[in-house]
Amino acid sequence: MKAIVKAKPERGLWMEDVPLPIVGVNDVLIKIKKSAICGTDLHIYKWDHWAQQTINPPLVIGHEYVGEIVELGSEVTQYKIGDRVTAEGHIACGHCRNCRRGRQHICDHTVGIGVQRDGGFAEYVVVPVSNVIKVDQRIPDEIVSIMDPLGNACHTALSFPLVGEDVFITGIGGPIGSMAASICRFGGARNIIGTDLNPYRRDLALKLGADRVIDPRNESIEDAMISMGMVSGFDIGLECSGSSVAFNQLIEKMYNGGKVSLLGILPPDTTVDWNKMIFKGLTLKGIYGREMFETWYHMEMMLTRGLDIAPIITHRMKADNFQEAFDIMETGNCGKIILDWE
Ligand code: NAD
Ligand code: ZN
Repeated sequence: MKAIVKAKPERGLWMEDVPLPIVGVNDVLIKIKKSAICGTDLHIYKWDHWAQQTINPPLVIGHEYVGEIVELGSEVTQYKIGDRVTAEGHIACGHCRNCRRGRQHICDHTVGIGVQRDGGFAEYVVVPVSNVIKVDQRIPDEIVSIMDPLGNACHTALSFPLVGEDVFITGIGGPIGSMAASICRFGGARNIIGTDLNPYRRDLALKLGADRVIDPRNESIEDAMISMGMVSGFDIGLECSGSSVAFNQLIEKMYNGGKVSLLGILPPDTTVDWNKMIFKGLTLKGIYGREMFETWYHMEMMLTRGLDIAPIITHRMKADNFQEAFDIMETGNCGKIILDWE
């Protein structure tokens, strides 16, 4: 089969002919229709420090996709050939303390599809049946293909009650920040204000439901708050940039008693004024992946009840043109890019 492979420990990705994956007794074989490119894939493409520490080439990458089941392992009973599915990208061990107390998303031994084992930038992928997700037929294929990052956004945005709350999203123009804005809108937030450095992406965040989006380098967050009639700080903060500067701006603008979700992967040398954290009585929550599998139910419900994230898909191309897709990803002037395998 054709697959996009991290074939060598250097910058780049290569379309190669690789053997079909072997289907275990508790696995399903999925024929990929569409896959979507994640920031993680860009790290692997660039072969940065994180990728060098994490990826063991050769590896078929990709963890955002939609496809159709074409083969079932002998023990699989709950799906049938032809089911349209996607998959939760984190495979939990099922045995550790967290798995056994229903917290598989923070399993001690998580294995990432397309990171630690072959993924979905290919004509076929094998996944354990425990990770397969069959979603409502009313949700279009390309939306199903981005439910993994939508799930990150959902987990981030819905970690704290947000009805009537003022929300601040740093990195709001990134795919996850933008989709988090949509979810906050859908979920009944009051004002949704965000920051991003990229003008293309600031526009995108507005399309997805943000009220005000500013460039924090030359616009004042304070002014944005006043323009929206806000008198105190934010009740909810969603850090979706991975920037320590943005993180500090967010903590600075939180109202006493505020709740903060940390999704962006902050550099290890990030510092913060702990007095603000303590004397404002803030709550911080680290967000990893999607809650298994509550987040998936939340997403399916919202997507079939009017949550519209379609504008986040800005580019579509044939999988063979993946190089062009990664070139666009590197400029940052995009939302989600869909690769078509059919
Ligand atoms: P992305 O890199 O595409 O988006 C980040 C956005 O932040 C960009 O639009 C960028 O312009 C903006 N930004 C950068 N510095 C900024 C600053 N100082 N102020 C305001 N905006 C700034 O990433 P994404 O795919 O949307 O993911 C968001 C973050 O979440 C990334 O850090 C990613 O690594 C991380 N992530 C975490 C998990 C998890 O499970 N915790 C999963 C996926 C992604
Ligand atoms: Zn576990």
